[in-house]
Amino acid sequence: MGIEEKLPAGFLLTTVEQVAGYMRKSSVWPATFGLACCAIEMMAVGTPDYDIARFGMERFSATPRQADLMIVAGRVSQKMAPVVRQVYDQMPEPKWVISMGVCASSGGMFNNYAIVQGVDHIVPVDVYLPGCPPRPQMLLNAILTLHDQIQNSKLGVNRVAAARAAEEAALRATPTHLMAPTHDHAVPAGRSLLA
Ligand code: SF4
Repeated sequence: MGIEEKLPAGFLLTTVEQVAGYMRKSSVWPATFGLACCAIEMMAVGTPDYDIARFGMERFSATPRQADLMIVAGRVSQKMAPVVRQVYDQMPEPKWVISMGVCASSGGMFNNYAIVQGVDHIVPVDVYLPGCPPRPQMLLNAILTLHDQIQNSKLGVNRVAAARAAEEAALRATPTHLMAPTHDHAVPAGRSLLA
């Protein structure tokens, strides 16, 4: 959008990307937004023990219009889904999303009609953070991962090329139902799960 799309390709754009990436990653403000138990761990990163202020991110914005990071902390109910999307829509570009915890990422153990089976059905997710609940240190690690993504994100014509490459890679990826299992769920002979 805007001037980014009009930037020329080449050395100049690469330099602008590096500067813009550095500025953006150093000025991320999360939205004040928590859905369930994971939100308690998210709040903990604001305490001196974990100190999210070291990244200048302690200012959780009370309005989405002054936030550019949504941390989806907790399961998303069907009733909350339109609200989550509205908050996301009200955040200005560029904006990013961390899906915190297994519930937000896939519905987790709540495999039922009341819970959205992955917040990426509603908003695009940049970083998926596993765990139930993820510890505050894990959230800090997800934030550092996001910082790397922001620092290396493309602008203008480079962004279009990067998006095309990512889409082609996704289309080439092996579908999950064809992937080899990582472990065996079979109960050994002579053992009972109820014992
Ligand atoms: S992942 Fe665990 S801690 Fe987080 S919302 Fe779900 S049940 Fe709660």
